[in-house]
Amino acid sequence: MKLSNIGEFGLIHAVQKLSFQSSPDTMIGIGDDAAVLKIAPATVLLATTDMLIEGVHFDLTYTDFYSLGWKSAAVNLSDIAAMGGKPRFCLTSLALPARIPVEAVLDFYQGFTALARKHKTILVGGDTCSSKDGLVISVTLLGEAKKQTVVPRTGAKRGDRIFVTGTLGDAGAGLELLKSGVRGRGSGSRGQGPGDRSQKPGVRRIAFHSALRTPRSALIQRHLRPVPRVEWGRRLALSGCASSMIDVSDGLSSDLFHLCEESGVGAVLLSEAIPLSRSLLKSADFLNEPPLHYALSGGEDYELLFTVPLSRMKRLEALHIPVTEIGRITAGNEMFLMNTVGRKTAVRPTGYNHFKRTRNCAKRPT
Ligand code: ADP
Ligand code: MG
Repeated sequence: MKLSNIGEFGLIHAVQKLSFQSSPDTMIGIGDDAAVLKIAPATVLLATTDMLIEGVHFDLTYTDFYSLGWKSAAVNLSDIAAMGGKPRFCLTSLALPARIPVEAVLDFYQGFTALARKHKTILVGGDTCSSKDGLVISVTLLGEAKKQTVVPRTGAKRGDRIFVTGTLGDAGAGLELLKSGVRGRGSGSRGQGPGDRSQKPGVRRIAFHSALRTPRSALIQRHLRPVPRVEWGRRLALSGCASSMIDVSDGLSSDLFHLCEESGVGAVLLSEAIPLSRSLLKSADFLNEPPLHYALSGGEDYELLFTVPLSRMKRLEALHIPVTEIGRITAGNEMFLMNTVGRKTAVRPTGYNHFKRTRNCAKRPT
């Protein structure tokens, strides 16, 4: 059978079934943002790993090495955030083609450690080898949480309200702008922006302080340097308000699908409520698709998508985190998008799926 017949998630389900072994110390194994493993009576170890492959997840034409390092840390930190945990230690493994200069590797680690340090996460090891083809990056992140506060993907119940932090679609739109050659005013004033092949890899750096002056540059920044919502994830978990949570790595339609599938529920999203940034709306003329498309299918926003039972809404309000209510959980297993006059259309998971080509924008780590 071809991998494309079952897709990435079909394959993961098959591995999960084949290797399943119940253990009293595995609270959550395959199937969530991170594994949850008992290490002390009240404390759990969170473990997650993600690979970034040149030509699949990133293209060195559109990124600098500092941003690549930053993003490699961000995608893993985001999975710990989605469990409501605290990141602690990480390991990085690199398979390096000979064409990559030492400076580029060091620039990668500057970006990686800049973000890791912000979250008090320490690099404790990894592996380095040569690659005959593309650059391969693998990051493993270990975190911790109180056993009682972990927020799994499985807890959503009918009637729960669906929330998302921040805004959606920016990163997917940012990648499209990069691919179409738009870099935004200001990029390249300190080193060249991505896409300039005249520079050796590793010495390019994007000057975001000035680049941020334009909406398009802001979208590009969200693609290159995503901000994992670690603090918000922890506060949501500690408050006990969230019944389920996942990070938006694949796009809202796919990540809500994962959450619904794991919880055995359906969902109705209000199309008008989905939070879109001013930068995305202002850049609409430069994009091939309407802004909502990037929110549903774009991916790589690394915002948190979570559900809250009505009885716990006050706890969420007390946190003062920038969140938007975007719909509600329903019985059944279908997802719908509802417009302002109440018309419903079915939503399919249209985010990135390795082996199945379901979209043509941001690719995300597995
Ligand atoms: P995320 O997008 O949050 O990183 P993934 O969709 O990559 O999550 O993975 C979903 C679940 O499947 C996770 O629990 C992950 O650890 C597990 N998983 C993915 N690939 C494999 C594999 N090859 N072997 C074992 N488990 C895997
Ligand atoms: Mg995740």
